[in-house]
Amino acid sequence: MTSLDDLPLRDDLRGLTPYGAPQAPLPVALNVNENTHPVPDDVAAQILDDVAAALREVNRYPDREFTRLREGFAAYLGHGLRPEQIWAGNGSNEVLQHVLQAFAGPGRTAFGFAPTYSMYPLLSQGTGARWIAGTRDDDFRITAEDAAAQVAVADPDVVFLCAPNNPTGTPLGLDVIEAVYEVARGVVIVDEAYQEFAPKAAPSALTLLEGRPRLAVSRTMSKAFAFAGARVGYLAADPVFIDALRLVRLPYHLSALTQAAATAALRNSATMLRMVDEIVVQRDRITAGLAELGYLPHESWSNFVLFGGVDDPRATWQALYDRGVLIRDVGIPGHLRVSAGTEAETTAFLDAMASVGSAA
Ligand SMILES: *Cc1c(COP(=O)(O)O)cnc(C)c1O
Repeated sequence: MTSLDDLPLRDDLRGLTPYGAPQAPLPVALNVNENTHPVPDDVAAQILDDVAAALREVNRYPDREFTRLREGFAAYLGHGLRPEQIWAGNGSNEVLQHVLQAFAGPGRTAFGFAPTYSMYPLLSQGTGARWIAGTRDDDFRITAEDAAAQVAVADPDVVFLCAPNNPTGTPLGLDVIEAVYEVARGVVIVDEAYQEFAPKAAPSALTLLEGRPRLAVSRTMSKAFAFAGARVGYLAADPVFIDALRLVRLPYHLSALTQAAATAALRNSATMLRMVDEIVVQRDRITAGLAELGYLPHESWSNFVLFGGVDDPRATWQALYDRGVLIRDVGIPGHLRVSAGTEAETTAFLDAMASVGSAA
């Protein structure tokens, strides 16, 4: 049998492991921060109609510039953004890959404050760039001063700021973004995948775009919009930044079906997002419930909770698995992460945790 070592693989890919969150068919799946509420029926019907119409023209290549979708994202984001400032891809992962292809790549570096989103190093290495991990304090926070100092030393070509941070849920102040941008030579990407779950009054990094051509803010439809399976992510930046991304994207990278589905979903954003408040309620229930059991949940502005005080994460993960509840061991010692589900799923998780026994 042939092994990977027998193939003429790129040297810099040898020894790497692919992204691999388990996809197990358990009744309660709270491991990858999906929105566990389905798309509302009335919106699903409209999406279906628009996809059906697009299907009648799939003999032609789609609009390479996904014009209507960019108009939809600009309108949804507000902040005076224009469609020329919008980019989109098959999930924000593809958008982030475009950024790395344009601004990182062989001989260059990408930086983030660990622990952070596990795809940043993988995407960086995939483009041939070297990943540099910065650090956070014991509560996974970063101050503007410390962040700027670390970025100044690392001097990366691309900085990832995950706000709020995955897998910790930690909020990130705009002062940190401003300070990092000031010292950075490269581009700064603020990943706001979970922004819709943050307190309503929390300002977005979108407010910082004006006058900062090396800054970009990425978002996704995978979480708040309950659209993970459709694969749609997007980004806002200076129009010139968007031009850089055009250099590396595959022609017609967003299918006509994806464009039709996402445009219809965006037209119904109020309905699509109506479960967000309920998810936030369940998130806060998880935090309170875990604290009651003696665990140490971290503050979260997202749709998941990272909690410490777990004696043996592997054993607790397995005990939950055996009770039909799938959560995530993100590799942080003494910690596990759980996504907020429906009320029933959240109850199932909290009941399973109670039956496993209390914290270390
Ligand atoms: C889930 C997630 C994404 C979204 O990825 P998609 O490719 O859009 O599904 C991006 N960034 C972070 C930090 C995430 O947790």
